[in-house]
Amino acid sequence: MERYDLIVLGGGVSGLGVAREAVSRSLRTLVLEADVCGKATSDNTLRIIHGGFRYLQTLQIPRVFRSLGDQSYVCRQYSQAVQPLPCLMPLARFGLKSRIPVTAAALAYGMAMWMTGSPLAVPRVISGREFGEIFPSLADRGSGGALCWHDAVMTRPDLISSALLKEISSHGGVIQEHSAVSSVREDASGFIVTTSQGEFTSARVINTLGPWLSSIDIQPDLRGRRPLWCKGFNIVTHKRLHATHAIGVEGGGRLFFCVPRGEGTAIGTWYVPVPELGATEKPSVSDVELDQFLAAFNAAVPEFQIVKEDLVGIDVGVLPMRRDGAKGPELYGSEVISATHGYAEVMSTKYTTFRSQGARALAQLR
Ligand SMILES: Cc1cc2nc3c(=O)[nH]c(=O)nc-3n(C[C@H](O)[C@H](O)[C@H](O)COP(=O)(O)OP(=O)(O)OC[C@H]3O[C@@H](n4cnc5c(N)ncnc54)[C@H](O)[C@@H]3O)c2cc1C
Repeated sequence: MERYDLIVLGGGVSGLGVAREAVSRSLRTLVLEADVCGKATSDNTLRIIHGGFRYLQTLQIPRVFRSLGDQSYVCRQYSQAVQPLPCLMPLARFGLKSRIPVTAAALAYGMAMWMTGSPLAVPRVISGREFGEIFPSLADRGSGGALCWHDAVMTRPDLISSALLKEISSHGGVIQEHSAVSSVREDASGFIVTTSQGEFTSARVINTLGPWLSSIDIQPDLRGRRPLWCKGFNIVTHKRLHATHAIGVEGGGRLFFCVPRGEGTAIGTWYVPVPELGATEKPSVSDVELDQFLAAFNAAVPEFQIVKEDLVGIDVGVLPMRRDGAKGPELYGSEVISATHGYAEVMSTKYTTFRSQGARALAQLR
């Protein structure tokens, strides 16, 4: 039986992020992936590399800095696969999203960007006239002005996973695709991981299987928290709303984010609670779910009607949600890591954070 310092279960961006961090610390690392790395939820995102502007609203200052750090890292390290994405959000008349608080937040965020050396342009509040010139078809929505900030967008997500795979292998990490894990057990010598390709042992295991987290047989005393799982999907249309700018539009109590993709637009994200996935089960979108999304979007943004025939794709993945609350199930704001001695489970909620998430998972095992 081959022995490693660390075995990572799952080769999505979370698993690759952990493995990359581990090999950089000279840990002999094995990644076990049932299929092909980076092709599940990690290949079905809205492709935004987020900063932390939204966390200012709830004054989560350390998180603003951490998100900016993660964003800057991805923009610099994988510059061939991402590009800056100017984003607009029409201002509200009153409240936290109105002109004065948003202008103050933009100044504070610009300062944080400067302090973290962000390569992106600082945010600013633009006039209703400027908004109307950028989005003539939505001019009425932004007549009171808009916030303009920059995130980044992945133009080639495949390049990020292939770069991560290269970084892991060049530091001696082993990646085994088409190796479905079936169980994790602990004995006096450490952990024994059983796969379709054989057994491996290690002093530490990090489970990043996402919605397949407990489709494998895990010794009961090792299991972490179990959330509700939520299918999330984006629609991709050939219709172009804008060539370069993304926009967040609210309607019917939901926020729809429209992002340029190729010649068209990706629009997200719609969430539907689902049971945890079985071993080989893949998430999919039913006709009813798609109709509900289109009806809600068309009611919220009647200026940009989409019908099924306009679609060129649907991105679908699964994310963890909080179990309860008066408002019903809610998406976790950030990753959840549960760790006992030597074994950790990572539930990711953002692609962008794979580096800091990997470092935190390893730190929790020590
Ligand atoms: C619609 C949508 C839009 C999103 N948009 C954004 C965005 O714009 N920006 C952002 O930062 N984040 C976004 N996210 C969140 C982000 O996609 C996820 O947080 C992240 O991709 C999760 O990565 P992961 O590695 O944890 O999961 P996954 O990518 O699902 O990886 C899990 C891996 O485990 C493997 N596996 C399963 N069973 C086994 C087994 N038995 N043995 C071995 N391997 C197994 C699977 O094949 C898979 O490769 C979005 C998510 C969704 C659903």
